[in-house]
This record gives sequence, C-alpha cells and structure tokens, in this order.
Amino acid sequence: MKFKSIKGTRDILPGEVETWQRAEAAIHRVMRGYNYREIRTPIFEQTALFARSIGELTDIVSKEMYTFKDRSDESLTLKPEETASVLRAYIQHGLGEQAPLTKVYYIGPMFRQERPQAGRLRQFHQFGAEAVGSSSPHLDVEMTLIALDIYRNMGIQQFSLAINSVGCEKCRPAYKQKLVQELRKTHDRLSPESQARVRHNPLRVLDSKDERDQQLTKHAPLMKDHLCTECGEHFVQVQALLKATRTPFKIDGRLVRGLDYYTKTAFEITSPALGSQDALAGGGRYDLLVEELGGKPTPGVGFAAGMERLLIALEKSGSVSDKSVNLILFIAAADEPARQWAFVKAHELRMKGLTVEIDYLDRSLKSQMREANRQQARYVIVVGENELASGSAKLKNMQTGEETVLDLGAIEKAVKV
Ligand code: AMP
Repeated sequence: MKFKSIKGTRDILPGEVETWQRAEAAIHRVMRGYNYREIRTPIFEQTALFARSIGELTDIVSKEMYTFKDRSDESLTLKPEETASVLRAYIQHGLGEQAPLTKVYYIGPMFRQERPQAGRLRQFHQFGAEAVGSSSPHLDVEMTLIALDIYRNMGIQQFSLAINSVGCEKCRPAYKQKLVQELRKTHDRLSPESQARVRHNPLRVLDSKDERDQQLTKHAPLMKDHLCTECGEHFVQVQALLKATRTPFKIDGRLVRGLDYYTKTAFEITSPALGSQDALAGGGRYDLLVEELGGKPTPGVGFAAGMERLLIALEKSGSVSDKSVNLILFIAAADEPARQWAFVKAHELRMKGLTVEIDYLDRSLKSQMREANRQQARYVIVVGENELASGSAKLKNMQTGEETVLDLGAIEKAVKV
C-alpha cells in the first residue's frame, strides 16, 4: 500500500522551507517593530467556540469545519481561523486585567474543508495580529500597515488595499431591512446561493462572485452610505490615517468578508499575481466579539493573512531567495580512523555554530568530493592516515579552486568568513 498526503494538504520540502523561514523571520521582525507579542494556541478547540464567533450560518461553520467527536464524546474542531482562539485565551487568562491593551500575533496552520484549487488548501497557514482593548481607528489602520509592511519587507510590491465599513449593532439592522427589501425585488433571479443569503446573511449577497447577482444588485444600497454618526466618523478617521501614512487604498462598499463578527472597519488586501484566489489578507474590527464569547465588553481589531498566498505572490514577483543551506565545510575521509576523526571534529565545529557535513555512506574520496560539490560546500578538507599523523591537511576553497595547507587544530578560523 502506498500512502499519500490528504487532499488539500501539502508537504513543505527542503528547498521550499527556506523561503517559509525567511517569511516567518520577516513576520517576527515587523511584529516586533509594532510591539506585538507572539501567542500560540492549540490546534483544536471546542466546536461551539467557532460556531459562536464566526457565525452558524457562515460558509466556514456550516460547510467547512473539520469537526469530530473525541473518545469522550466531546465535539472538537480543528481551528479554521485564529481570532476565536486568541479571544478565548484572552478571556480565559484574564489578559485584559493585566494590561489595558493586548497586542498579539500568530503564525500557524488552519483547517477548512474547502474545494482544493490553486491557492486554496484544506490545511493552510495564516499569520495575523489582534489588538484587544481599544476602539481607536489608529489600530484599524495599524493592522493594514503591519500586513503591508510584511509584504514590502519580503519584496512584494504589487497589492491593493480595499476598505469598507460594515456598521454596528445600531446602524446595521435598519440598513439590513432596507437591503432585504431591495433584494426581494429581484429575488427569484438571484443565484440559489444568494437567495439563501437574503434570508440569513443579506450583506454577503453584495460580494457574490456571480455576474448576474452583481448586475442585479448594482443599485442596491450600501452599508457605508447608511452608517450611524459614530461609525461614519470612525470610517472617516480610518481614511484620514491611511492618507496620512501615504497608504494607497480604495473604498469598496461591497466588501463584507465571510465572517459574521465584524463591526465598523473591514478590509482586504489582494494581489494581481494570485489569479482567481487573489486575497492575500483580510481583517477588521470586532467590537462585540469578546462579550459574545463570555468576556467583558471589549473592542478589538485584527487581520489574518495566508502564508501560502504570500509565497505564491513572492514567487511571481521573482524575489524567492537562494535555496542553498550554506554548507561551510565538508570533511572528506579516506579510511575508517579518518571517518572517526571527522565525526568528532564535525561535532566540535557544529557546536561552534558552523554548518559542517561528513560522509555517512562509506563513499570513495572521489564520490565524497562530488557530494561536497553537489551540496555547494564552501570548503572541503580531505583527511587520511598521513593528515592525521602530520596534523595538517589541504583545505580546498570550492569557489576559487585554491588549495592551502591547514593546521587541523585551526579549522574554525580558516573557514570562518
Ligand atoms: P479569512 O480567515 O477567510 O479571512 O482568510 C484570510 C486569508 O487567509 C485569506 O486572505 C487567504 O490569504 C488565506 N486563506 C483563507 N482560506 C484559505 C485556504 N483555504 N487556503 C489558503 N489560504 C487561505
């Protein structure tokens, strides 16, 4: 029997993983700059946590979650996104009592049983940030800046930011009514999916990808034109701050996003390099969510970004870096005593932080040299009976071909750049 990875999951192999590490380093660096601290939460949670936060009627909860009963008959779910888990931890550990504002970030795997296609996986990875405890529009804008800084830091230049306001519990209900009234007029001609949404989640009809739906809803009222004073002012401030930081953006009155918990600001960052699944990141404000999950009323805002999408955009922009591991030294050994010596020496040098390789396959010297070449070792030394007896060996610089005689007690100094 041959085993294969599960549909919609991917192995990240050596050669590719170096780019992941570079992206992770950029994420840690940028997050540190904004003074966000990393948080790591479990892979699975109680199912109800996600149903409650993301919303029972969303695509994620109704169709996509990996939900199972464990042996104690408890319903568990592999996390489809991180915000709910972060807020669960925030409430559980009383983080709000320790500091007035909690700023955290994460990088990790998420799970959704979606139809696999280019850029859409069932186990994918997200990085993101959450700021809990302030309703300042500065933080809404900070979320977009963090994401954009990470892209720029990685060398991705092509992206666009769209923002919208989805209102709040004060202004949304009246708007929703107005929208439903309008949608009812053309209800029967809408796609079956949108027809179902008119009842449960009418705002999402507006971001339907179906062309006919788009045509039919062309003149539908938009939330951004029906905001209450508070939401309206917040939206104006977000725009002013984006302008002040010279961040190009457009307003997209149809941007809703697939999660129920947003209030006020919603945003999305897309890249033309990504094709049909063009979303790099999305986020927004969730001022009611902490309370909804059992905490004290606390405003919050966050974003989540796809790692795989970032890497696709990076590849398209041509800035994927050198994939080599930077092997400094290959010690080729001619006989058994030399192999023993090489093993001990390699350990010693590795302890000092050098990347060193030896032969484990009993290969001939010639074949060891070929291997050193294949692995692009910077230096090779060859040791055998004579070298061990004299305490010196030839050090070959593989880039220049130059050979020098080396004291075997001073390898570290000779190969250090
Ligand atoms: P969401 O949590 O749905 O707002 O998604 C935030 C970001 O995660 C998206 O903009 C994508 O970059 C990424 N993402 C979401 N779902 C997937 C998926 N199934 N496969 C790969 N990336 C995804």
